Amino acid sequence: MSAPAVNAPVAAGAARDVLSRYAPLPEGDEQYPAAFIEAQGAIKLAEGPERVTVGVTGKVTALTRNLLRNYHGKVIEYVPLEGSELSAWLSAKMGEAAGARSPQAGGTGDGSLSLDRLANDAPVINLVNSICIEGIRSGASDIHLEAGPSGVRVRCRIDGALRTVRTIPGERFPAVSSRIKIMANLNILERRQPQDGRITVTVGDERVELRVSIVPVTGGESIVLRILGKRAAAALGELGFGEEQLSLLRSLLRLPHGLILVTGPTGSGKTTTLNAMLEAIASDTVKIITIEDPVEFIVPGVNQIQTNEAIGLSFGTLLRRVLRQDPNVILIGEIRDGPTAEIALRSALTGHLVLSTLHTNDAASVIPRLINMGLEPYLVASVLKGAAAQRLVRKLCPRCKTARPAEAGERRILRLAGIEARQLWHSSGCAECGGTGFAGRTVIAEAFAPDQALEESIMKSWNITSITALLRERGMRSLLHDGLMKAAGGITTIAEVEREVLIPEAEA
Ligand SMILES: [Zn+2]
Repeated sequence: MSAPAVNAPVAAGAARDVLSRYAPLPEGDEQYPAAFIEAQGAIKLAEGPERVTVGVTGKVTALTRNLLRNYHGKVIEYVPLEGSELSAWLSAKMGEAAGARSPQAGGTGDGSLSLDRLANDAPVINLVNSICIEGIRSGASDIHLEAGPSGVRVRCRIDGALRTVRTIPGERFPAVSSRIKIMANLNILERRQPQDGRITVTVGDERVELRVSIVPVTGGESIVLRILGKRAAAALGELGFGEEQLSLLRSLLRLPHGLILVTGPTGSGKTTTLNAMLEAIASDTVKIITIEDPVEFIVPGVNQIQTNEAIGLSFGTLLRRVLRQDPNVILIGEIRDGPTAEIALRSALTGHLVLSTLHTNDAASVIPRLINMGLEPYLVASVLKGAAAQRLVRKLCPRCKTARPAEAGERRILRLAGIEARQLWHSSGCAECGGTGFAGRTVIAEAFAPDQALEESIMKSWNITSITALLRERGMRSLLHDGLMKAAGGITTIAEVEREVLIPEAEA
């Protein structure tokens, strides 16, 4: 019996529990590869000597018909399935993290799945799932997959440093790439244009969002999965700010209005700090709205908005709209241009506490940067309540770090910050830290809140040299100073600090 009826789309509800009427496939009789099942919406239900029964979720294309007929060399009988049945079956079969997408009505017939691939693809779902799960469990921020001459290198960025976690045979890259594209709802045939998408995976009972970026490179594609929304925001006190810096930041957060800026290059932990600040402010009595790109942390009780440039929802546009929502506190992921800076400052002036980030190297530079963006110095002076600059450095592994005498050169460097230390620390690496000698990261930071003299200086000259001199005079500990204190205290190393902050030539 052939089944011409399935040329028409399957009516909803027509085939409830079809799967339960079929016995599981006998041992050794293999199911189709998962990528094929997802792409075509078809699974093998039963196979006899002359006949194969295939469940399908939609129209069967000529391509699928030919493919299966040639593959089996038998009569194929098609039985309609519901998409939900198939996706339930898939997730039961594939365990946790079966992917975000329930299979679409099948038969897209894109022709990308050749018979060879069909035969080789079987473990791909499990492979991709375990790559994602391993990355999430190891606390990575990003997972990188690159096809190279010696295979596909899978690397995780953990504590800011990339680490190769496994290598898979190069011939499996197309299948892995297709699987990721299917999960992210991308076009699996597209190999020439960059593509962006999202995947939601479930690990245990936690839902984790992955932002997918695929870019064609010579020899294949570079795939990067950014792990988002996994962690709750950290507590402000746990990030590594010094006592004085913490009390300054906490006093800023108690202000009813004004602008607070966190600065640093990409990857310096600005977003983590801002979210920790929100967590510290969040309560029943304040309305907090964030505009972010992307939303990286989930902060309970906070209204978080994702920008979407494609539909015109930029930081600036959203900010204008959000002001009508009667917020007390507004977080703007980043001030990128003059118009956004202008509205941010106006909002801070009209009774809102505005938190945001800027790309500057140090805290003092926020002042000239805002003025260079076209803002009036008097406005900056009256609205800017505080700024912090930060970097992230790796922390020495507490399990394997040991004290050692400080060398003469190191002691000269430490003296730049007025520190006299005879010993420093190093770590050899252990099982706990994966042999790296480091575990976790801490901020090194500098922070200030303008006083009257500084406000006057901003209005008069806003010259970076005089602002910096004034801040030094007031005892602001610089990024370098803070980093060297942490090196002397055995939290990190001078080399880690040197990677993030320029260390001037020390006098012999
Ligand atoms: Zn260790």
